[in-house]
Amino acid sequence: MVVIPKVRNTYCPHCKKHTEHKVEQTKNKTMGSAHPQSWGKRAQKRHLSGYGNHGRYSMPPIGRRRLFGRKTSKKVDLRYQCKVCNKLHIAGDSWRAKKVEFK
Ligand SMILES: [Zn+2]
Repeated sequence: MVVIPKVRNTYCPHCKKHTEHKVEQTKNKTMGSAHPQSWGKRAQKRHLSGYGNHGRYSMPPIGRRRLFGRKTSKKVDLRYQCKVCNKLHIAGDSWRAKKVEFK
């Protein structure tokens, strides 16, 4: 679990200086569902349809396999709202965490 302060002093690109910001969590844009025709989605469809041998002879043993959607953590993006100009901006860096708490 990651604990983040609700209010943080950080750079505001609109005011062009450090100001107090309210911190909120947003969904990471890269975490959307895969396109139905993407390689991973087609592979998943192949796997779920039961056709073929699921790559049994060209894959690592089951214990080391990473199949679909096995990651338990989610990517977190933080959204900052400037208290001076009330404008929002999203922090450029995102990281993985199972749970995020604001204090
Ligand atoms: Zn500002």
